Amino acid sequence: LKIKNLRKTYESKKKAQIQALRGVSLSFSEKGLVFILGKSGSGKSTLLNLLGGLDRPTSGEVIVAGRSSNNFSEKDFDAYRNNYVGFVFQEFNLIDNYTVGDNVALALALQKKKTSKKDVDPILKELELTDDKGDTLYDRHINELSGGQKQRVAIARALIKDPKIILADEPTGALDNETGIELYELLKKLSSNKLVI
Ligand code: ADP
Ligand code: MG
Repeated sequence: LKIKNLRKTYESKKKAQIQALRGVSLSFSEKGLVFILGKSGSGKSTLLNLLGGLDRPTSGEVIVAGRSSNNFSEKDFDAYRNNYVGFVFQEFNLIDNYTVGDNVALALALQKKKTSKKDVDPILKELELTDDKGDTLYDRHINELSGGQKQRVAIARALIKDPKIILADEPTGALDNETGIELYELLKKLSSNKLVI
């Protein structure tokens, strides 16, 4: 994954232009944990959204496996977002009145792929989403989980797609310190065979 001379200019309602990214070039390795640091408003979310194909740059390129996404069709973008990248957000973005299992399965249901408990449970186990009896939290409702558990469900939802890249935007922002550290340990573990940004 590479970016070349990436610019993003937003036009606000009053027609004032906001230059969120001013020509950023970067090259990411295939695996590992990468941190993007900067104060609020410095363009971190803008960059992640462009890397994930959620938004388009004003100019410059995102290059995926040697191919510029400027040449992607809508279908290519769908495939990229569906199979190549997984997102984890600060506010979890889970559906509160669905179960854990349904939230995870939704990631594939949107691509018309069926998922069963048998597919989801190993991921929940890997992420230690289990109760004291060792059963997974598959049938638990989201509002019955702690913040750290919710964020791990969001990671499970990303992992079910087996993406090459995980994009996490301030994933510990809504967690207490200790839970945040645990979450980073988990992302570090995942980064041994994925790119985690
Ligand atoms: P960060 O995630 O580092 O806090 P952002 O990428 O969210 O920064 O924002 C970068 C800059 O772009 C900020 O000045 C922000 O106000 C502006 N911005 C972000 N999204 C929009 C938008 N949709 N429309 C206009 N300006 C935006
Ligand atoms: Mg942000």
